[in-house]
Amino acid sequence: MNPRPLIGMPCALVPRGGTLSPVYGANPPYVHAIEAAGGIPVLLPLWEQAESLEGLRGRLDGLLLLGGGDLAPAYYGEDAIPQTQPPEVARDRLELDLLREALDDDLPLLGICRGLQMLNVALGGTLVQDIPAQLPGALNHEMSSGGHEDRRHPIAIEPGSRLAAIIGATQHPVNSYHHQAIGRLGAQARAVARTEDGVVEAIELPERPFALAVQFHPERMVEDDPAMRRLFEAFVAACRPRVHATAPAGS
Ligand code: MN
Repeated sequence: MNPRPLIGMPCALVPRGGTLSPVYGANPPYVHAIEAAGGIPVLLPLWEQAESLEGLRGRLDGLLLLGGGDLAPAYYGEDAIPQTQPPEVARDRLELDLLREALDDDLPLLGICRGLQMLNVALGGTLVQDIPAQLPGALNHEMSSGGHEDRRHPIAIEPGSRLAAIIGATQHPVNSYHHQAIGRLGAQARAVARTEDGVVEAIELPERPFALAVQFHPERMVEDDPAMRRLFEAFVAACRPRVHATAPAGS
């Protein structure tokens, strides 16, 4: 049987209604997409102690960065514009720390939506803080929100890229739930998919064993799109060789 790699997934602090206190959580579609692809999802709360992060080093087989709110613009040297959401301070810090370690360790990495933006900034790139405000004339990239609508825009995928190999095409329709986008690309990052307005929809680090991030939400398309299932399967397959490499002695 194929070993099932441990895929770390940092949570968000999620508010609840009324007088209930917030909880750490992740949307179920991410969890189930990783499970269906043969991985074991490991939700990571927002620890307060650096020792917790240290203790995790070498014990995950892959890192999945999820969607969510806007990264604090200070991380790419800008002041927030009014359209930018208030930062999730603890989440920004934990995800950037985890990302730096993953990059140091060549841990397989998949970023989704905010996860793509996070990776680009970790590599020294910048973000467009609000597409309607800063890229007038761009497509509507918030067309799938609300849970009821599932509209998709086509992306053009660079031939020869890892993403093109996984999807098996150089054009593909994807959902779109983002108001931010990549500005200047980070070092090592290669833009491998764009919409017709030039907005970057996927990046890869070609020098790495597996480091890919997408602006769309494949976890919400797996039910009707086999290409999106293959994306998670390719990620989990890249994590598998780490299982024995990181298992404790004697196991
Ligand atoms: Mn889009």
